[in-house]
Amino acid sequence: MIGVIAPERDMGAVREFFELFKTPWEKWNSEKSYDVVLCTTEESPWNIRANLIVVYSGTRLAWDPENIGEAQPARITKILYYEGREIPVYGNCITFPPEDSSLLIEKISGRPAVSRPQCGEREILRVGYDLFEEIRFLLTGGQPVAQAGIPALEMHIEYLRTQMRAAGIAFVEIPPVPQGYRFIVCLTHDLDHPAIRRHRWDHTAVGFLYRGTIGALLKFVRGHSSVRSLTRNWIAAAKWPFVQIGLAQDFWANFYEQYRKVDGGLPSTYFVIPFADRCGRAASGLMPKRRAAGYGARDIAPAIQDILKNGDEIGLHGIDAWLDSEAASRELEEIRSLTAKAEIGIRMHWLCFDERSPKELERAGASYDSTVGYRETVGYRAGTTQAYMPPGTKSLIELPLHAMDTALFFPGYLGLTTQEASERLAGLVNNALRFGGCLTINWHDRSLAPERLWDGVYRELIRQLKEKGAWFATAGQAVDWFRQRRSVAWDHMGIEKGPPATDGAGTGNGNRLPGLFLQTYKGREVKALNNLMATESSRHSIVA
Ligand SMILES: [Zn+2]
Repeated sequence: MIGVIAPERDMGAVREFFELFKTPWEKWNSEKSYDVVLCTTEESPWNIRANLIVVYSGTRLAWDPENIGEAQPARITKILYYEGREIPVYGNCITFPPEDSSLLIEKISGRPAVSRPQCGEREILRVGYDLFEEIRFLLTGGQPVAQAGIPALEMHIEYLRTQMRAAGIAFVEIPPVPQGYRFIVCLTHDLDHPAIRRHRWDHTAVGFLYRGTIGALLKFVRGHSSVRSLTRNWIAAAKWPFVQIGLAQDFWANFYEQYRKVDGGLPSTYFVIPFADRCGRAASGLMPKRRAAGYGARDIAPAIQDILKNGDEIGLHGIDAWLDSEAASRELEEIRSLTAKAEIGIRMHWLCFDERSPKELERAGASYDSTVGYRETVGYRAGTTQAYMPPGTKSLIELPLHAMDTALFFPGYLGLTTQEASERLAGLVNNALRFGGCLTINWHDRSLAPERLWDGVYRELIRQLKEKGAWFATAGQAVDWFRQRRSVAWDHMGIEKGPPATDGAGTGNGNRLPGLFLQTYKGREVKALNNLMATESSRHSIVA
């Protein structure tokens, strides 16, 4: 059991941290003795009874040695090297005199950000940043684009777990991994343009005609596309006038068919715009006119029925929901009326989101949100591969978005070639294999069709995900799975309350959710620091 000493204001972050590192913990009781105590206050380790005491603080503590390094203030991002990987620190950070075996080196000074002060029999680890301040930062505003590629929160969990194992502590955890799989994948599709016929001479049509003709030629000349792609685009551009007068098939309108053909009917989630021609409000004033979609959910009612019939999920692609719970209620209601489903999740159009959004969405009764990600790059804004509860909410779950097609390919964003995009996605898949959790992908409705033709990269991604043992889930099913894991409660001996039986029918397609498993790390007598092979671990199922 871990005892935690943290200021009251950090207890929300503490609780959420231990939903993500799902291992038994409680608030420190000075009468008790613990396997591990985590401390982020001035409490002297000499008053604590534990086998391992981990003190996290980015500022100098009264009992710290004199020769402690310069504290580096918040605002500047500090990078710590840990086993060849980077952990960014966003709050205060302090370094220590060099020691023989340090695993956490601050990039600029080259000094360790961890030390091991002597304290009799006890093992103390003095880490030079405040863990829960970092967690709060990650789950609130999130990481800047420069650190997007680092699953920082997962790294914090991994660092602590490694220290506990190295100290020979016996403990259990429920990893963020569904039983029988390696990780979760949510294939999602934002529906921004479900028909080109709805775009006569607006910026979408002009953009399509330019990129489908001259743009496609330039791409071909630069060696970034094939003859086949060039021909497909030119044929589509030539057909465009006929599509407009209804004499040729609209090549954006059969998006659902196209996706089912490419992914073979894997569970997917489609986020639908509720109302046509609304650009929506900004934090002050209005959004640009071009944010307005050329359709509303009612216009594609038959496609919605088709999607639901196959067990796929419909969510809300929100317009004003992110800043106004009343607008969110109206937008949700529009989707409910068309789907006859009570539980509706949200992703905001253009990923509009700020600190008040989780509460507004929760008040409106959204079942989850999946907006937290980057428009301009791919990676981990909240530093995690897991679904989490944003600070200040009581029921809303955030399923973070990790990779969006437009971020990969738009010249103004990453502007990657097919090959580079596949490599970038492979990095995210590797992180999912390493840390578990869920990889959430957004490929837009029109992205398989001309003029984008981003089907090759998507097909390759699906192939890789299948090969690597992903559980493909709708966003609602993935959120249900994380809720099931969150519902496990601990007592001092182990599991006090297991997850309720659930079939995931609320938002998913009625399939039973995969189970959870308990990972057990056996402690040991002889301590050999940093020798992980010395600790044994085993797994067993806790849900049939
Ligand atoms: Zn959108």
